Amino acid sequence: MSDSAVRNLTALFSRIAEAMESAEDRLSDLDGAIGDADHGISMALGFKAVVAELSHPRHDLSSASAVMNVVAIAFLNAVGASIGPLYATAFRQAAQSLAGVQEIDRAAITIMLQAIATGIRERGKGQRGDKTMLDAWLPAAEAAALAQTRNLVGPAFWQEVVSAAEHGANATSSMVAVRGRAARVGERSLGHVDPGAASAVIILKAMAEALPAV
Ligand SMILES: [Mg+2]
Repeated sequence: MSDSAVRNLTALFSRIAEAMESAEDRLSDLDGAIGDADHGISMALGFKAVVAELSHPRHDLSSASAVMNVVAIAFLNAVGASIGPLYATAFRQAAQSLAGVQEIDRAAITIMLQAIATGIRERGKGQRGDKTMLDAWLPAAEAAALAQTRNLVGPAFWQEVVSAAEHGANATSSMVAVRGRAARVGERSLGHVDPGAASAVIILKAMAEALPAV
């Protein structure tokens, strides 16, 4: 039984859901510039559903891994758009990466971020520079691994992770989308931050707020 890990993760997803609700309009506006303006709605809906499912007594929440499996299914059931399967795969991979983990410490966060980034990359068959959320997730995962080897802890660790994600997300405004709905507008996607990269930054900031002492 890993009570503290389970508590940490459920608190984390509550924080993400709050942050996503606050950012809903901004994310949908970003999506409106290059897509169908539903990204904020999808993300807010998805994490709201995650929080609801995590409070449901029918679920096995006996480990960090079990929590992440519930998160994956809840997100997938709530979000039909392409973002649903992408994050569901990411969270399922995160569940596997957390098998046996008793504590959400810096090492657990690092393997979880790597699993999320890998899950999204494999599911979406994308790469950096495609102007997607991978442009935030991949540098964030790399920064976490590097910060861990440099033995940075707490706020110093998160500072590296969040700023790598922000830098990656900001860089998407000078990219032309080659994947997803934004690819249809081609060159017109220039000058706009990818909404998926922007919401990835929101998730990572919420992680830093919910788990400051890793
Ligand atoms: Mg959209």
